[in-house]
Amino acid sequence: MTAYERSRIILRFADLLEQHTDEIAALETWDNGKPYEQAANTEIPMTVRLFRYYAGWADKIHGLTVPADGPYHVQTLHEPIGVAGQIIPWNFPMLMFSWKVGPALACGNTVVIKTAEQTPLSAVYAAKLFHEAGLPEGVLNVVSGFGPTAGAALASHMEVDKLAFTGSTDTGKIVLELASKSNLKPVTLELGGKSAFIVCEDADVDQAVELSHSAVFFNQGQCCCAGSRTFVHEHVYNEFVEKARARAMNRSVGDPFKVGIEQGPQVDSDQFEKILRCIRSGVESGAILETGGDRFGSNGYYIQPTVFSNVQDDMSIAKEEIFGPVQSILKFKDLDEVIKRANNSRYGLAAGIFTHNLDTANTLSRALKVGTVWINCYDVFDAAVPFGGYKMSGNGREKGIYSLNNYLQVKAVVTALKNPSW
Ligand code: NAD
Repeated sequence: MTAYERSRIILRFADLLEQHTDEIAALETWDNGKPYEQAANTEIPMTVRLFRYYAGWADKIHGLTVPADGPYHVQTLHEPIGVAGQIIPWNFPMLMFSWKVGPALACGNTVVIKTAEQTPLSAVYAAKLFHEAGLPEGVLNVVSGFGPTAGAALASHMEVDKLAFTGSTDTGKIVLELASKSNLKPVTLELGGKSAFIVCEDADVDQAVELSHSAVFFNQGQCCCAGSRTFVHEHVYNEFVEKARARAMNRSVGDPFKVGIEQGPQVDSDQFEKILRCIRSGVESGAILETGGDRFGSNGYYIQPTVFSNVQDDMSIAKEEIFGPVQSILKFKDLDEVIKRANNSRYGLAAGIFTHNLDTANTLSRALKVGTVWINCYDVFDAAVPFGGYKMSGNGREKGIYSLNNYLQVKAVVTALKNPSW
């Protein structure tokens, strides 16, 4: 198929997805528990945008002519890598599908994607729409299944040429090992995080409170880049804690299909229990429970929006990924200190910086060992902007031009010139 035809199919799929936003958003809410409004107004439009972005790339991928020494004509061919195996998590099923499938198809690969066992529905629906859009049989294969069986089979398969994985750091280590023990397929990993959200003394406190709230609580706290360590300068600390507590108490929790609901249930009982255990550990280790701390209501996997202050670096709520609606607020005195503390994590996915001082913003953004820095904003995702982690948050980058490299082979073709003087 020509690159142009590939582009047309992806664009037709994006149009169909847009037309079916209501159904897909409903599937996301049924499967995951996320607010329907969030899925319909944010995530599905972002998914559509992502596919359109990569449709635009399909016919603009090409190699170079290289001025090598000697009587040679040298060119590079950018070829599809082959069969791309992809494993995705349950927190943003459609969006993760787009980050994986969009660039892989644009580059001319075939795909076998395994969805998370908690959230298999939307990708199956999307595969049907791809079929309607004219994608030939066998190019996109959606497999619903469990991790240690279906996921491991993909990671260790000898005829899968590339693996892209998003999920926990522990599982990332397993799939990397399976890939290395089988055919050495290249692996890109998008893993966990414990991102620092840094509120400096000159920050607009009201704005920082609101954005730190959504940085933690968005999607029931089930975000890899959740701003789950809120560092606040001592001069604004008391005001910040008071306002963060009030904001969390005001969060609307309930049936995710209802209008105006900000927070639905956690994805399943395992996550629900794990988050409640993390909250208990926060209380036992001496953090101050400002609000929340228990299940919300008596039915379903709802958790009260929870805020801890007086959190210390060595507490497990400051070190481990909670993946739930729990904000941990830590106090700091100066920039050098907060840089060291923010970097003192095995993760390095993202960070937020709240300041109006250009020097502070420049110093922090260069010093932090993370893949994304948001300054006076948070969770801004754009199809063209790369995303990925330092350290144990993963390797490789997705989105933007960077993701194309994950799905291409570069072949150097060297041709001897018959008459080099010309
Ligand atoms: P998980 O690692 O348990 O599962 C992720 C995927 O891996 C699922 O499809 C699962 O079935 C599969 N899997 C599980 N065991 C496997 C195995 N042995 N072999 C192959 N595949 C296996 O993670 P989760 O609980 O579903 O997702 C939450 C985690 O994902 C969090 O840690 C979060 O930070 C991370 N995450 C990261 C990003 C990112 O972009 N960095 C995005 C979303 C989620």
